[in-house]
Amino acid sequence: MNIELNIEPMEQWFPKTKDLPLLIAGPCSAESEEQVLETAKLIEKDHRAMVYRAGLWKPRTRPGTFEGVGAKGLPWLKKVKEQTRLLVATEVAKAEHVQQAIDAGVDILWIGARTTVNPFSVQELADALKGHDIPVLVKNPINPDLQLWIGALERINQAGITKLGAIHRGFSPNSESKYRNDPKWKLAIELKRILPDMPIVCDPSHIGGSRELIEPVAQKAFDLQMEGLMIETHINPEVALSDAKQQVTPARLKTILDAIILRRADSANNEFVESLKELRGKIDNVDDELITLLGKRMALVDQIGESKKENNVTILQVGRYENILNDRVAKGEDENLSADFVKDIFEFIHQNSIKRQEKIMND
Ligand code: PEP
Ligand code: MN
Repeated sequence: MNIELNIEPMEQWFPKTKDLPLLIAGPCSAESEEQVLETAKLIEKDHRAMVYRAGLWKPRTRPGTFEGVGAKGLPWLKKVKEQTRLLVATEVAKAEHVQQAIDAGVDILWIGARTTVNPFSVQELADALKGHDIPVLVKNPINPDLQLWIGALERINQAGITKLGAIHRGFSPNSESKYRNDPKWKLAIELKRILPDMPIVCDPSHIGGSRELIEPVAQKAFDLQMEGLMIETHINPEVALSDAKQQVTPARLKTILDAIILRRADSANNEFVESLKELRGKIDNVDDELITLLGKRMALVDQIGESKKENNVTILQVGRYENILNDRVAKGEDENLSADFVKDIFEFIHQNSIKRQEKIMND
């Protein structure tokens, strides 16, 4: 897959992010002028906070719940800009939101997870953004579809938006989970691999769904080299009109930020750099051996496939497969490898063995 996006490095549009991660904080929803301004003034006191978020148009799962104050809250955000050093951001889901937010001087727009899933909506936003120079952050879609996320980023980029970032807010879980939204870190890592220049802001509030999970999720995000955080912060979370369980006070925001350890992607410590190089060299050699061994194993699989074909024997013998898994899991334990890990690897290897033998049978 070849994806070429024309984006500006984040430190060009947020000079402070050269040294600090992009920190976006503020309530899930703007509720009143007083709540918006008081929360902003407390958040501003933390030097790390750069952007104030507040949702005006709220995509709610069920009707009849608080759906946001809408355009009525735009002047409140304007006051935040006038009375603090913070930039302001809000979610847009329709062309008219884009127009109203830009007219009111909102600095950054984000596209919510429920909008990213719909290419028609994303295209409507892209068309409304044409001709504007404003940063846009695109949340992942609620379903774990990386292509949909990338597609939305492409649509916005093709509209001429070059100050572009992604927000990782997790995916609707399909089983009981401690997270409100399953982080599926693998998908965020894959986005980074495919689009290495795309900054990713982690939203530990919507991933965790509870105040307690914000810090560990944020720490993990930084350990995976993400560029920023969006943390829902409310002057009085207990009475918040949306997402009350996951919002923190500005004081707790500070405690969370103080606890997070910022690790860098590289280091100036020569001893560390040298030893890393040596260990990575050893890993490369082990990987070469692994590839050679896998090749040998599959050559044996092919040999067995030929003889099964000649003798009219089925490819799969469940008993043998069960024995392989049990034996390899037990041996893995002696090498300090978890049962899950060994089982996953041998399931994978076995799948490929079946595929190769199927090909032999059908030739
Ligand atoms: C939000 O940021 O408040 C929000 C609605 O988030 P999401 O789009 O991630 O559900
Ligand atoms: Mn929210």
